[in-house]
Amino acid sequence: MESKSFLASLSSSSGKSNSCDLTIRFLAPEERRKLALKSLGLFWAISLGTIPLPPIHWVSVPFFFGFGIYSFQKKIREVSRLAAFSVICPECAKTIGCPEQSLKSPILLTCPHCRFNLKLQER
Ligand SMILES: [Zn+2]
Repeated sequence: MESKSFLASLSSSSGKSNSCDLTIRFLAPEERRKLALKSLGLFWAISLGTIPLPPIHWVSVPFFFGFGIYSFQKKIREVSRLAAFSVICPECAKTIGCPEQSLKSPILLTCPHCRFNLKLQER
């Protein structure tokens, strides 16, 4: 599996910042298909699960059915993801762990220790 590292800057709302190393993981076509089908299955299961709820099902069943298709198309086109990482908060100097997630810029975080809003972006 191919991956690429880059340097990113983590800044807080008070102006303090530090740098960290992030890794982009490129997904194989088989893994993309698996993630897309998992997402489709989840939303269709929610859609089916809301059938016995009379007033809500007029909205929830078609919404989750359609959102499943939207999510499938989004995931099947996602060629890379940001690998799980940990950063050090510039405010309280404690480590924040983050799970693997979709690539977007900037990534907004809230420190679970000091509640400062943090912005992570490529340098
Ligand atoms: Zn903090």
